[in-house]
Amino acid sequence: MKDKQKGALLGLAWGDILGCPVEGWKKHEIELVYGTYRELPEDYLFDKIPDNKKARLRPLGFHSDDTQQALALIYHCLTFEGWNRQAWGQILVQGFIEKAWRGIGRNFVAAVHRLRKGGLLKESGSSSSGIGAAMRVGPLGAIFYRPEQKKQLLQATIESTLMTHADQLAAVFAAVVSYTVSLFIQGFSVQEVWEKLHSFTKEAEKQTKSLAEQGWKVDHENNQLISNMLEQAMEWIDKPIEVVRNQISECARPYLASGFTRAHPNQGFVLLGGLHALLMASRSDLSPHQILISIINEGYDTDTVAAIAGTILGARYGIDWIPIDRFYDRERLLKYADALVDQQIPETMSTFLSIEAKLTQMEKDFQQQLKSGNI
Ligand SMILES: [Mg+2]
Repeated sequence: MKDKQKGALLGLAWGDILGCPVEGWKKHEIELVYGTYRELPEDYLFDKIPDNKKARLRPLGFHSDDTQQALALIYHCLTFEGWNRQAWGQILVQGFIEKAWRGIGRNFVAAVHRLRKGGLLKESGSSSSGIGAAMRVGPLGAIFYRPEQKKQLLQATIESTLMTHADQLAAVFAAVVSYTVSLFIQGFSVQEVWEKLHSFTKEAEKQTKSLAEQGWKVDHENNQLISNMLEQAMEWIDKPIEVVRNQISECARPYLASGFTRAHPNQGFVLLGGLHALLMASRSDLSPHQILISIINEGYDTDTVAAIAGTILGARYGIDWIPIDRFYDRERLLKYADALVDQQIPETMSTFLSIEAKLTQMEKDFQQQLKSGNI
């Protein structure tokens, strides 16, 4: 059980780290450089990687926004022995001031700006049904895994999501991820997990609606899209992967935000990348590593979809499959994984932010060197 709790973070971090070298690439672009991308490279193949891709590379083994925001959430919940929305707002703002955050999207930045200007916590979130919150919440399911902690789990997941992503789909799907993690940690089978997910999702939809009634900004506050979708998706778990991916695209297409041209299963929309990660992590015909690799070779939002699948796989299988020696910041990530079990806060807030800021600066320097042709 302890390994499954730790796996919720280490699996997330591994999905993030493994997906980073091809983040935002198309499938054919990955094929041109790597053939099939099978593992974290020992070194970048700089002579094969196009210049426009080089500019966004980070040092191999570095974790990105997915993991650092998960660490912030873990830190926050352990410090406050639960959920405290003021404190979460403060971490988001302080991390921004200290330049700790990296790889962040415009919705996250816009939400933090609103908080920084003194905006109300209930109204800070951006209009986004993306997977930028689902990617970080898995470890909450390791902190609040006991059945009697379900209320805390729901509150922490939904409110922390709404403060950056003010959308019912984003919040409910994030709750699905953290609850799935808690169920695998308790030892339920895939079948049992999916059976429980249905009524849980309805509960999360109700809770989000009631927050909207209490003044929270929540787009799409009154719908059952996620619970309906999961009910259908339950039938797809063991279908061939290509069939699953087609089903995901077909079902998500009518709900794509304007500007989306393709319903690709690795796009950062909860009904695409989110559902894809959940379904892939529920498969039993592939090893955890094969699952992450299969996701990543599809391209698009590789690190984030793999991070969501990774947190679930870690909770399902523990940590033996995770090559922790490939993590650049392994000692520290291991301490955070231990903290999920023993609830001991691994470092002070100022240390957390200064280490993350240092890593962010190292990533920038690396990209600068690549741009100037020094690497
Ligand atoms: Mg990322």
